[in-house]
Amino acid sequence: MMTEPPKSEGSEEICPICNKPKSRHTPEEILTCSKKIREFQDAKEGESGN
Ligand SMILES: [Zn+2]
Repeated sequence: MMTEPPKSEGSEEICPICNKPKSRHTPEEILTCSKKIREFQDAKEGESGN
């Protein structure tokens, strides 16, 4: 008998940039997305900060 691994969709981190699970990113996508996320956060902080 085979035991199926529990599906933990709830713990899967979804990328806000491309809406894909982070585990399904290619190394290039990880770089691009993390860069965009940082730019997005910088823009947000720049608006209200300082
Ligand atoms: Zn992404």
